[in-house]
Amino acid sequence: MIPPIANNFVAGETADDALSHVESLNRDGICGILNLLGEHYSARQGADEDAAAYVSLVEQLAASGLDGCISVKPSQIGLDVGDDVFRENLDRIVGAAAEDDVFVWVDMEDYTTTDVTLDAVDDLGHQTDGNVGVCVQANLKRTPDDLERLADVPGKVRLVKGAYNEPASVAYKKKAKVDEVYKELLEYMFTEFDNGIAVGSHDPSMLSHAHDLHGQYGTPYEVQMLMGVREDAQRDLVADDVEMWQYVPYGDKWFQYFYRRVRERKENALFALRAVTGI
Ligand code: FAD
Repeated sequence: MIPPIANNFVAGETADDALSHVESLNRDGICGILNLLGEHYSARQGADEDAAAYVSLVEQLAASGLDGCISVKPSQIGLDVGDDVFRENLDRIVGAAAEDDVFVWVDMEDYTTTDVTLDAVDDLGHQTDGNVGVCVQANLKRTPDDLERLADVPGKVRLVKGAYNEPASVAYKKKAKVDEVYKELLEYMFTEFDNGIAVGSHDPSMLSHAHDLHGQYGTPYEVQMLMGVREDAQRDLVADDVEMWQYVPYGDKWFQYFYRRVRERKENALFALRAVTGI
């Protein structure tokens, strides 16, 4: 069982736990993006096992009738083992999901994986007529070109600021610059995309920019935020008729993910400390 505090950020250890969290989100008008925690397998077995777990999750999600989709990390399904292993497993997951009409997101990892990830999504987006989406990162200098490519690929695109500590040769390092680029890229997406835009951010300033662009251009969009982060804001967005998706991690590899959430924000650490000490 996931201990208190961590269970604010992780839905549980099993697919059933995650699905019951999505059920409660759906009651509040929020859709769920299910992510089985795991990354960087260096041997094929772990990657194949997680790919199989995603296939069975897709079947459970489809049978449940819940509003949800899945999100997969390339290194979780074999990218560190080989590009071919990643493609084989992704094809397997996307094939099963297309049959069951479940949407598949592909998370983006560090800059060395961008090309192989986009190539796979480009192929599969065309093959499934847009049942696949991909994340792109505003901190990477290449992203304007990648978005131009993705404008012609069926499927949605999630814009995030970027979670990896990339070298200055390929990425903007200053937060203010990343924020400025994020807004420019959003504007490009709202004017050039008709396949679906996901604003993957908790930042009120990015969300209000997206709201304004929607008002100006009328392009539909959705907002995506993590479980346990600004959940009041998630509900407020639903009340404002914004399509809201919550990224819902689950699985037995929850500790590392929880530790990352606590480290990235002082408020989360204080929240954890208060719950443990009762003050
Ligand atoms: P920040 O720039 O971190 O913060 C800006 C402001 O947002 C803060 O001042 C505060 O007002 C608000 N805020 C931010 N966090 C919190 C918080 N914890 N509590 C309260 N307020 C907060 N990165 C990748 O590299 N690849 C991926 O595939 C990927 N997928 C993602 C999927 C989703 C659904 C989300 C939400 C993020 C994903 N990320 C991914 C992470 C992303 O790149 C950022 O690292 C992360 O979202 C932090 O940036 P931010 O825009 O949310 O806000």
